[in-house]
Amino acid sequence: MLEAKFYDTYYFCNVVKSVLYHSESYLGVLNDFYGDGRIYYRLSTFNKYSILHEFIEFIIHDVYYDQSSEAALEKKQKIQENYQDIPIALSLLRPSTLPIELALKHHNMPHQSFEDFLDKQSKKFIECNIDDIYEFIHKLRETGVFHELVEHISKEVFHVLFQNRDLMKNFNTLMANALEYESKQERPSEIKKIFSRTGVLKRAAIPQWARRAVFFRDRGRCVLCNKDLSGQINLENKENYDHIVPLAKHGLNDISNIQLLCKECNQHEKRAGEAVTSDNYQSWYTY
Ligand SMILES: [Zn+2]
Repeated sequence: MLEAKFYDTYYFCNVVKSVLYHSESYLGVLNDFYGDGRIYYRLSTFNKYSILHEFIEFIIHDVYYDQSSEAALEKKQKIQENYQDIPIALSLLRPSTLPIELALKHHNMPHQSFEDFLDKQSKKFIECNIDDIYEFIHKLRETGVFHELVEHISKEVFHVLFQNRDLMKNFNTLMANALEYESKQERPSEIKKIFSRTGVLKRAAIPQWARRAVFFRDRGRCVLCNKDLSGQINLENKENYDHIVPLAKHGLNDISNIQLLCKECNQHEKRAGEAVTSDNYQSWYTY
């Protein structure tokens, strides 16, 4: 079970989507994720905490650091200054509470407050600077609570995004391009064994949990021709677990890269070897 709080979940979904669909505007950010050989250390073979989870986690980190800007801090310090003599207003506005604290609070994750952190160093919020915030976040990371929060939000964001096959295709195309680009360089020796001689990832068995997840997401139907593959209506239709971006095109062995196809579509539609999916979903009821 996933205890979903939907706190900022859709906001993060949107950020992830923006980065993936406008990747040319985020090259610097993306490079920090996969550039200069980093992609090799992100690779895993059908981990439940998938490569997409890792990517979402990376984006959430970036957002939390981004929210801690000089300008945002100054604005909050102004509020603190203006309402100094009106404690009721201050307790409502809570300018010294950071966004990350609000998120931790919402998830019932005990942590030291930023004010308390400053107090221990005999500093006042009004005179603190951006480095104090970074140091505070660093401290949250050390205690593990920051990671716990980011991992939880990442699972919720994955839960929502996984339904969107076009986004899965987009993510996997981006990763495949990065992997292809890096394939011109020498690979770290510890990961060489997961690659085939042609330089793409070796085929790995798709675990049962991944097959079940994909089967249920795609409602037991071929995503291209809508044929029923449940075996309850037609025993001859066999399900095929297809890599959205084929392994031969530097696709990943990751649950985000798998979809349900019938045997015929798997053979015909994919002959060109290009990434293919569809925008068709079974709705909750017909309109
Ligand atoms: Zn089909």
